[in-house]
Amino acid sequence: MLEQQEIDKETIKIPKYPRKGWIGVDLDGTLARTDTTLHPLQIGPAVLPMLKRVRYWVKTGRTVKIFTARAGDPGSERMIHQWCERHGLPRLEITNRKDHQMIALWDDRAVGVLRNAGVPVVPLPMGLWQIVRLRLSQMLGGSALVQHECCRQSLEQG
Ligand SMILES: [Mg+2]
Repeated sequence: MLEQQEIDKETIKIPKYPRKGWIGVDLDGTLARTDTTLHPLQIGPAVLPMLKRVRYWVKTGRTVKIFTARAGDPGSERMIHQWCERHGLPRLEITNRKDHQMIALWDDRAVGVLRNAGVPVVPLPMGLWQIVRLRLSQMLGGSALVQHECCRQSLEQG
């Protein structure tokens, strides 16, 4: 598993979103860590780069909704609101429904596709050398570099 990495202020601002519409953020595996040691109802610790990103969006007037399969269950929604409060987030809306105002969805399972093309936009599985470079980049605080590198590899392979 990748270690939690620091994220610099400029990386958080990418991509730039309009204030109109809302950004969907998955909970388990995206905003909160998930693994097999957790009880299915338990919400894991925060994924720090994602938490900082959501705080930035909220602070700059973007609407963020927690997009999760846990939506609709009052007990789960109460736990999510408490988790958000503990992590310095406001009472975000919780949903499992897309609509035409959703401008982006951040999710650890979703696969991005180029619009109208059916072409996936995904980082490719990393080889040993790429993992070593990622670790080095993380140590040097270069998360943006890694993102660009993953995108470049996708385009070359596609
Ligand atoms: Mg997930």
